[in-house]
Amino acid sequence: VMASMAHLQEEKLRLQEEVLGLQEKLTARENDELSHSLQLQGQVETLKAKLLEQAQEIGRLRSELGCTDAEKHRDLLAAENERLRQEMKACEGELRELRRRQQQQAPCQDCAHLQENTELQERLSQLQQEAEETRAKLAELDLEVQQKTNRLAEVELRLKDSLAERAEEEERLSRRLRDSQETIASLKSQPQQIKYIIKTVEVESAKAKQALCESQSRNQYLQEQVGMQRQVLKEMEQQLQSSQKTAAQLRAQIMMYEAELERAHGQMLEEMQAMEEEKNRAIEEAFSRAQVEMKAVHENLAGVRTNLLTLQPALRTLTHDYNSLKRQVRDFPLLLQETLRSARAEISQAIEEVHNTNRELLRKYRRELQLRKKCHNELVRLKGNIRVFGRVRPIMKEDGEGPEAANVVTFDAEDDAVLHLLHKGKQVSFELDKVFPPQASQEEVFQEVQALVTSCIDGYNVCIFAYGQTGAGKTYTMEGTAANPGINQRALQLLFSEVRGKAADWEYAISVSAAEIYNEALRDLLGKEPQEKLEIKLCPDGSGQLYVPGLTEFSVQSVEDINKVFEFGHVNRATECTNLNEHSSRSHALLIVTVRGLDRSTGLRTTGKLNLVDLAGSERVGRSGAEGSRLREAQHINKSLSALGDVIYALRSRQGHVPFRNSKLTYLLQDSLSGDSKTLMMVQVSPAEKNTSETLCSLKFAERVRSVELGPVSRKAELASWPSQEQLEGLTPGLCPISPQGDSPGTSAPPGRGHASPSPGQLSSRAASIRRKLQTTG
Ligand code: ADP
Ligand code: MG
Repeated sequence: VMASMAHLQEEKLRLQEEVLGLQEKLTARENDELSHSLQLQGQVETLKAKLLEQAQEIGRLRSELGCTDAEKHRDLLAAENERLRQEMKACEGELRELRRRQQQQAPCQDCAHLQENTELQERLSQLQQEAEETRAKLAELDLEVQQKTNRLAEVELRLKDSLAERAEEEERLSRRLRDSQETIASLKSQPQQIKYIIKTVEVESAKAKQALCESQSRNQYLQEQVGMQRQVLKEMEQQLQSSQKTAAQLRAQIMMYEAELERAHGQMLEEMQAMEEEKNRAIEEAFSRAQVEMKAVHENLAGVRTNLLTLQPALRTLTHDYNSLKRQVRDFPLLLQETLRSARAEISQAIEEVHNTNRELLRKYRRELQLRKKCHNELVRLKGNIRVFGRVRPIMKEDGEGPEAANVVTFDAEDDAVLHLLHKGKQVSFELDKVFPPQASQEEVFQEVQALVTSCIDGYNVCIFAYGQTGAGKTYTMEGTAANPGINQRALQLLFSEVRGKAADWEYAISVSAAEIYNEALRDLLGKEPQEKLEIKLCPDGSGQLYVPGLTEFSVQSVEDINKVFEFGHVNRATECTNLNEHSSRSHALLIVTVRGLDRSTGLRTTGKLNLVDLAGSERVGRSGAEGSRLREAQHINKSLSALGDVIYALRSRQGHVPFRNSKLTYLLQDSLSGDSKTLMMVQVSPAEKNTSETLCSLKFAERVRSVELGPVSRKAELASWPSQEQLEGLTPGLCPISPQGDSPGTSAPPGRGHASPSPGQLSSRAASIRRKLQTTG
């Protein structure tokens, strides 16, 4: 209640302040209006004085002239003037009344009225200006009247003078006439003399007559002048009339102004009344609001009182509770110690249990891991650890035109593992694990390969070979182009992303090596000395593992690193030969990717190797004609490809002995070919007619490698079923890629003459700069 009262008091004070402000504004406005009305009064005063002057002037003129018409007009004018004066007085009275009423008026509080007030003031100033102009006009007219009166006075003066002159002349003439008549009478009495005298008199009377005539004409002239003066007087009367008209107009204007003033005053009164009403209404509203609020507060108070009454028992129970709690708090430390002791015991027991469970889980996890690996192996084994794919490149410009470039390879719409070759008018069919037609993209090929690549992360060794005659697309499949990369780059990218996905549990390190086998000599493509021949040695730890001392291994972390490694390998390879294309078709290029993993939770370590091999061209060098280095190259290639075929054959047929040592390539890849390693042979063929015999040879190689039955280990009898070289297309022994040679352990590569022809230093310096950017794994 107090608050609402205070609020009301505040409201009241605020309203009073507002009223005071408005009163101040009103007095300021009244002062303004007072000064304006004073000005108006002054103007009225001067106008009055002027009118008085005019009246005096007219009176003077009337007394001077005495002309009846003008007099009448002047009288009228005077009466009019008098009336005007009366009206003016009445106006003054009204003005006074207006001021008095304004002083009594209540304040105005709206700015809209202020605006109207300013408008009215503007209009008032306009009217004042107009009155000023009218006054100026009146002054002009006064001046004119003054001038005209002056001229009238002059003319009257002249008229008086001429009248006086005339009277004098008449007097003089009548005197002379009397004298003459007296003389005539005296002469009549003296008859003699009379006649003479009459004559003289007659003569003299003629003179008098002439004088009379003269004076008459003068009289005439004077009368004319009087007429003229009357004319002038008439004009002046007209002017007077016009000035009277102007005065009437002015009067009408004054009346208009007064009416406007009155109207404004009326408006002001109305507004003030409206404001007063509004104020009253606001006060009433505030009052009623306060009453309502007060009522609500009263109600609240009553509610609070009842609450208070009901709270008292609650307070009693609370006090009771509080006392009991106090007691409990006193006992709490003891209780806490007790509870803590038991909780500690419970927690340590729980920890122990969790620990045990964890150990159990870890054991199970490891068992599951091994099981999974086993299952995976089994699955891969069922699918075949050695798989053979075929890829047919498209017909190209290089194949020429005409029948030579005709397409001789067709596919089976139903079976994507079958391919038909038109050979000597007959269609020969081959079945592989999968066949890629010319339109198959790099992406599609990689999709079939990626499972192999990822198994490398799980610690498996993988070999992917590209086999086929030169120009059949081996390099395209393995390396690809910059815009459309092949298996090499895609595999590394996949490895990176897989490793990233497992980063939460596993720590992986990926490193790459690149090597080349030419004429059975192994060279490091990433080494400082690329022409140096490397040896394959047994690990001294007795594990039976092989290793290549001096083979450079670069650790790679990103795709950029791989690109640098590839570039470096290419530059090194190009540095060492005169014709890279020719050279690369006669040597095997190997990219060896090693993935080492560490399971953070179990400490388990894995190592997987991915060997990506772009084999030398499988084409047979002409039966005769090849000699010298070309023949030796051909022999080496033939031998190593045959050895590869033999090894794969032996592996697939599960023979007890696998002839790894028959070539540098198989010996180097021994680890990655044996055990539960996985191998993919991608056999590349050309579809052009001119390559038919090579295509046939490659496909026969593929089918033979694949068709080996999976049987018990050491099915040596299978070896006998391997067709002899002569049976294969009747080729010259030693020149066919696959030879049924037995195992010839220890057959190391003949010490190749070395094909290296040191090339311009610019390439080696580029290689050196790339090498500096890469990091070897030690
Ligand atoms: P190789 O390495 O077996 O000698 P290349 O990979 O150099 O053969 O291929 C020879 C030519 O054929 C290259 O110009 C290559 O771009 C092209 N080529 C090979 N395979 C394909 C394919 N699947 N699609 C398009 N072009 C191919
Ligand atoms: Mg190639």
